[in-house]
Amino acid sequence: MAELFYDDAADLSIIQNRKVAVLGYGSQGHAHALSLRDSGVDVRVGLPEGSKSRARAEEQGLRVVTAAEAAAEADVIMVLVPDPIQADVYNESIAPHLKDGDALFFGHGFNIRFGFIKPPAGVDVCMVAPKGPGHLVRRQFEEGRGVPCIAAVEQDATGKAFELALSYAKGIGGTRAGVIKTTFTEETETDLFGEQAVLCGGASALVKAGFDTLVEAGYQPEIAYFECLHELKLIVDLMYEGGLEKMRWSISETAEWGDYVTGPRIVTDETRAEMKKVLAEIQDGSFAKSWMAEYKAGLPKYNEYKKADAESTLETTGRKLRKLMSWMDEEA
Ligand code: NAD
Ligand code: MG
Ligand code: MG
Ligand code: MG
Ligand code: MG
Ligand code: MG
Repeated sequence: MAELFYDDAADLSIIQNRKVAVLGYGSQGHAHALSLRDSGVDVRVGLPEGSKSRARAEEQGLRVVTAAEAAAEADVIMVLVPDPIQADVYNESIAPHLKDGDALFFGHGFNIRFGFIKPPAGVDVCMVAPKGPGHLVRRQFEEGRGVPCIAAVEQDATGKAFELALSYAKGIGGTRAGVIKTTFTEETETDLFGEQAVLCGGASALVKAGFDTLVEAGYQPEIAYFECLHELKLIVDLMYEGGLEKMRWSISETAEWGDYVTGPRIVTDETRAEMKKVLAEIQDGSFAKSWMAEYKAGLPKYNEYKKADAESTLETTGRKLRKLMSWMDEEA
């Protein structure tokens, strides 16, 4: 059974008595920095000299310095720059300023799990990862709510690393919704698997295959788009509210019967075997290695895939249809 922690289990004064550096001001960085500041924490943001995010962070009342200056001033350093460059930022700007008793924080375990970053023994290594996009993390905090977080300690140099992580999580509203204890290994491997096999890779491949099947059979692309992509949101909303049970309660008996008999013909034993292979490649580090190599090569294949999908009939059809649904922007 997972261990869950709420507001009463976390002591905000622990993080209020530290100096926090938030490196990066993107999706997660802005949410962490602003909410910690609003929780009475001494926070500075670390960004490169020429960064466009600098002006935005300053307008929002935060003090911005370089990553190296932030790391030198602070004794809690949260690394919220993109995963593939974290090791470079660590080597150049963080490592020279780490002292025994400092804490290094992450929002995702990738670089620690796969050994791209190897912190010294005297430093606490923690993770506080909200289970939601950064913009929602900030909005929920402002509304007095919070996004559930997971927290982990990879290295407990002070013997108090988990209390510190819980205190940090409280500062961004996480303990209002609940914090689950995990490990860097569990978080990294399940996060990569989830986004590849189910949430991003699996879902978009399923949508594309269904759409292509209908269009190749001569049906109108607009009809295929609504059926295979647009309606997926309505189905997922029902799953989110009440699991498969609520979704099946809402659809027709015909749809439910088709769900039972056809689903396993689409996600077959072969698909399940491939999922196990995908998981094995995540666990043995070969996915991380090939992704870092692609990134360092300047993203040649990544850009090819992006371009091919952007020009597909699915996407051109969707762009046209969404323009006609004027209310859709407002929902985002
Ligand atoms: P992002 O791409 O939105 O933002 C990255 C930020 O880093 C930008 O502000 C950029 O200007 C800054 N940056 C780039 N190079 C820098 C440098 N050398 N020094 C300092 N700052 C630099 O990133 P993100 O999506 O917020 O991801 C940050 C971390 O959070 C990652 O580890 C990611 O896996 C994790 N995470 C993200 C989400 C999410 O909602 N996007 C959810 C959970 C975990
Ligand atoms: Mg320091
Ligand atoms: Mg994830
Ligand atoms: Mg991820
Ligand atoms: Mg239908
Ligand atoms: Mg129906």
